[in-house]
Amino acid sequence: MTSDLLLEVRDLHTRYGRVEALSGVSLDVPAGHIVSVIGANGAGKTTLMNSVMGILPSTGDLLYEGQSLRGIPLETRVARGISLVPERRDLFASMSVADNLTLGAYSRRQQKWRGDLDHVYERFPRLLERRKQLAGTLSGGEQQMLAIGRALMGKPRLLLLDEPSLGLAPLIVRDILRIVKQLQAEGVTVLLVEQNARASLAISDSGYVLETGEVKLSGPARELAQNPELTASYLGG
Ligand code: ATP
Repeated sequence: MTSDLLLEVRDLHTRYGRVEALSGVSLDVPAGHIVSVIGANGAGKTTLMNSVMGILPSTGDLLYEGQSLRGIPLETRVARGISLVPERRDLFASMSVADNLTLGAYSRRQQKWRGDLDHVYERFPRLLERRKQLAGTLSGGEQQMLAIGRALMGKPRLLLLDEPSLGLAPLIVRDILRIVKQLQAEGVTVLLVEQNARASLAISDSGYVLETGEVKLSGPARELAQNPELTASYLGG
């Protein structure tokens, strides 16, 4: 094991019936880094996140803190510090902001998470202002903040962020990515799936480009951002 890797994905295969959505994906997520996964629609990015989380069954291996996650159920993965912010955010629309956040701590003892709730409100003052509002009535950016805040209530070491900027205006995207960078500064390791390749590489340490379920390119984020192949396909020429 390489001790500074928080997550190692080894030859991961994930299928939906006959369709193989991931065909032998391997990637490294060093502790303390932001690692971007870039790819077109249908490349397998969400499948990768759901496989790491244990929502989808897969073959190959996933090592977290040097130990295999094979056979480890979703709730144990959460308890061990892995949190997913899903692409569609999956908030409870008819529950309040505060209740959505509290649910994010379901795996933890109450006395431990009270302070974390305060911490989430400090980070997202907008959520404090709107703590009694129903989640379904928040704006898109606020909902994304709530989804991230809810994931933080699980005290993650590894945060899996699936397209946090989906459907958001450019200024809000910038805010969200700034928050991701702050989380890194506080010691959270991030695996970030983004369509917005340029913006995500700008805050990442390394990146992987997925194409039809395989890693097509990988490397330090700065190099990828200048890779002509990537520039043509994903970085707007
Ligand atoms: P997007 O950017 O559009 O979210 P993605 O890179 O996240 O795309 P996935 O959602 O992981 O891609 O999908 C990978 C492949 O698996 C696609 O071909 C998709 O059609 C297929 N797929 C995803 N979910 C299912 C499912 N529930 N049943 C069958 N096929 C699926």
